Amino acid sequence: MTFPALGSSPVRVRFAPSPTGMFHVGGARSALFNWAVAKQQGGTFVLRIEDTDASRNQPEWVDGILSAMEALGISKDDPAFEGPHFQSENAGIQQEAAQRLFAEGKAYYCDCTREDLTARIGTKQTGYDGFCRDRGLEYAEGRALRFRTPDEGETQVVDLIRGNPTFPNSTLEDFVIARGNGSPVFLLANVVDDIDENITLVMRAEEHLPNTPKQQLLWEALGQTPPQWAHMPVIVNEKRQKLSKRRDKVALEDYLAEGILPDAMVNYLMLLGWAPGNDEEILPFEELVRRFRVEDINSSSAFFDIKKLTAFNGEYIRALSVPEFTEACGPWLHAPRAPWTEEQFDQKVFDAVAPLAHSRVALLSEITDNVDFLFLDEPLIDEDSWNKAFKAGAGELLADVRTAFADAAWDAESLKDTVLAVGEKHGMKLGKAQAPVRVAVTGRRIGLPLFESLEVLGRERTLARVDAALARLAETATEVAAGAE
Ligand code: GLU
Repeated sequence: MTFPALGSSPVRVRFAPSPTGMFHVGGARSALFNWAVAKQQGGTFVLRIEDTDASRNQPEWVDGILSAMEALGISKDDPAFEGPHFQSENAGIQQEAAQRLFAEGKAYYCDCTREDLTARIGTKQTGYDGFCRDRGLEYAEGRALRFRTPDEGETQVVDLIRGNPTFPNSTLEDFVIARGNGSPVFLLANVVDDIDENITLVMRAEEHLPNTPKQQLLWEALGQTPPQWAHMPVIVNEKRQKLSKRRDKVALEDYLAEGILPDAMVNYLMLLGWAPGNDEEILPFEELVRRFRVEDINSSSAFFDIKKLTAFNGEYIRALSVPEFTEACGPWLHAPRAPWTEEQFDQKVFDAVAPLAHSRVALLSEITDNVDFLFLDEPLIDEDSWNKAFKAGAGELLADVRTAFADAAWDAESLKDTVLAVGEKHGMKLGKAQAPVRVAVTGRRIGLPLFESLEVLGRERTLARVDAALARLAETATEVAAGAE
């Protein structure tokens, strides 16, 4: 056991997303850290959907959460998984808890309006002034229920990441636990559910830290021993701003859709605020789980480095076998993602270049740009590549390459020798001589190894493309000449 002070009973953690939008990478990190603890400790991971904000919840977002769990390898079929539970289904016991707190004098009804409060405390001060504390109000429609926080002493939160922050009770206002219509608010519902689900460790986003002393008081007032807490660091972008769905790409789904492999994503997310040690980063999930320690999570913000994620992904792609890679590319080789039709696509042709692509791409989505020239009738010419490749002398070289290609042996080695020889005649090294051939045939300056690609494309199609490029050059030359007259 590497995990201290969790008591002898197996740990119970939970992930408690609110289904109010796309599944965020920060949520994915929270889920994984909790999952890692449950798996390592032989404990339980509870998925609880906090669906009490009926106006914002949408059923499809719940589906999104469930499919995200699946993509992250958090499987409903694993014995460590419990749920999903739905917060809305616990409304009864949450209301009961509120009533109990009222009956025991630990909470009181309040009929202050915001205007009343502002009239008393002004606009500079925040919080509640305790006006209704001793007015003995009973429930009536519109009266909120407030928790009576202690005036003296302090509340210490045992947080495995942040030391043990201490909050003077005098700074904790008498906060609302149930609204004027009787419905429990987040602070209470969340605690009652955690109690109901026997949660022993609450590991969640740092933004909830200010809620924690209030929630801990609720645990105690309800006669329970509070859980351990662990508030995970915020995730920031390259400008050190908190990741936000308005500004940054945050949806897990978007990363998977552009060809980040789920395993690479999981590995990368596990390193957001934690490191497995020995400068090792790319490790199988089981090994990350084995080494994971909540106490080693860093309290400072974690940078979501897309470049690093992409580099990780490249390594994960390289670790696949070629057939696995081909299978992973599947969604990008067919409609709607592929720019070619099913008739144009030829699996055998793809298989012939798959090993070349496998050693190059960092995102699966890059596969289409790498192989489209093989399937489209004509290459998609990238104008910038064209302009760079067709500098002075390139047209003459291409014309000579065309002549030589007409009867060269059609294998990569011979084609390379051919271009090398023609290049020499024109005073160009191979790299330079290849460029116009590549752009004429593939449309781009960068791509798979050229000669292997030509071999796969075949003589006839290669010559047709070279001819089309020569025709375009001739046309431009005529236009330029006409313009000069
Ligand atoms: N539903 C809350 C959220 O998504 C979770 C709070 C918690 O983990 O305690 O922020």
